[in-house]
Amino acid sequence: MTNKIKNIGVLTSGGDSPGMNAAVRAVVRTCVFHNVGCYGIYQGYQGLIDNNMESMNARSVKDIINKGGTILKSARCLEFRTTEGRKTAHENLIKNNIDGLVVVGGDGSFTGAMIFQKEFNFPVIGIPGTIDNDIQGTRFTLGYDTALNTVIDAIDKIRDTASSHNRLFIVEVMGRDAGHIALNAGIGAGAEEILIPEENMGLDRLLESLKRSEKSGKSSSIVVVAEGDKTGENVFEIASYIENNLPYYEVRVSVVGHMQWGGTPSCFDRVLASRMGVFAVESLLENNSNKMVGIIDETLKLFPLEEAIKGKSQINENLIRVSDILSIYCLLYTSPSPRDSRASRMQASAVKK
Ligand code: ADP
Repeated sequence: MTNKIKNIGVLTSGGDSPGMNAAVRAVVRTCVFHNVGCYGIYQGYQGLIDNNMESMNARSVKDIINKGGTILKSARCLEFRTTEGRKTAHENLIKNNIDGLVVVGGDGSFTGAMIFQKEFNFPVIGIPGTIDNDIQGTRFTLGYDTALNTVIDAIDKIRDTASSHNRLFIVEVMGRDAGHIALNAGIGAGAEEILIPEENMGLDRLLESLKRSEKSGKSSSIVVVAEGDKTGENVFEIASYIENNLPYYEVRVSVVGHMQWGGTPSCFDRVLASRMGVFAVESLLENNSNKMVGIIDETLKLFPLEEAIKGKSQINENLIRVSDILSIYCLLYTSPSPRDSRASRMQASAVKK
């Protein structure tokens, strides 16, 4: 390993996600393994500006692999958006003899990292840490798997009460721009309908589906809605719309909320974070920079930060079909069914209009 780097700084930035601690642990211990110094930087980019950092050793990161949140804390740092702020950050890195940086965060953090890298030609590697799983260049981000498990656990509990009282529950989950959580957790928890930002199917389709559901004899239902779904209505408005149009449904709303960010990281997230942490440090030591660690087809790869922040990872459209097949449609049609998913649903809603 051609190693010019003597000290690496690691920080967690933006929205926290389960697995960030496991990533920090992996970064620190990989530095120890390669005989490189490691500094933990507190409160994201704010810690760089405030010179709030400390040298870490293997013991500094004991007992954190199983903890949610981030021991380094995270912060949204306005100053880092200014040239002056980034200049101070750079001065503090130099003062501490840090010559490489690992940034664990989402696309905002990567944008900052990229600008900083360009301004000072400072080596930076990113690790994608966000529950939304919406970063291009990686199949999974840290915290996404844990968030999915949190959501299906919540929906399972909601289903118990839904079926006891013959209610329809509208469950809102995270996802302003991406429906990964809604679609996967919706399938995993057996939701009847799933509304995601990537699909603009309108409320009529939802009503149609719920009518069919009722006709088939189902007395309770779960509809999973991503925050940024395209109906243009919030979950409470969706609930009123359903109650106004389908009075036989008793509708309740449940917003899963901030608990999706927290919790003990799943085994998947811990292993992924550990792998990404090792890979990030070794990539820096091999003189890579301005890249994000991604996982594609089980293999870790470097992906340009510039590309990572440009686009969102795409939803797996086959999952929409799976959701259709396994929801109420299968109770109503024998094969061949008109359920071939999105296309037929789009036609159905077009005909209705
Ligand atoms: P996330 O990384 O989860 O997307 P944010 O969008 O809040 O979270 O970004 C985290 C931090 O990254 C911001 O508080 C800011 O310090 C830094 N950052 C984001 N965008 C920029 C930018 N355009 N220029 C410089 N720094 C930025």
